[in-house]
Amino acid sequence: MRVKVEEFGVKKMKTRWGTCNAKARRIWLNLELAKKPIQCLEFIITHEMVHLLERNHSKKFYELMDKFMSDWKIWKEKLNK
Ligand SMILES: [Zn+2]
Repeated sequence: MRVKVEEFGVKKMKTRWGTCNAKARRIWLNLELAKKPIQCLEFIITHEMVHLLERNHSKKFYELMDKFMSDWKIWKEKLNK
C-alpha cells in the first residue's frame, strides 16, 4: 500500500471497529476483533490504512479498498452481523 503506520494499538471501543488519525498516522483497533475471523481484522486494518491515502469515504476510497482487498464487502458483512 506504500503507506507507513507510525503507531498502532488495541483498545476497548464501544461504537467502532477501528479508528485512524491520519495526521499522526496512528491506528487503534477494537479488542473485540480478536473474536472475529482474521479476514475481518484484515479488513479493518486495510480500511484504516486506506484512510492514510484518502481521508473521506469517497469514490476513490472504495476504489482503493477494492484494489487492496477485493473481497472486503464479504468481511464487512460478517463483521456487522
Ligand atoms: Zn472509515
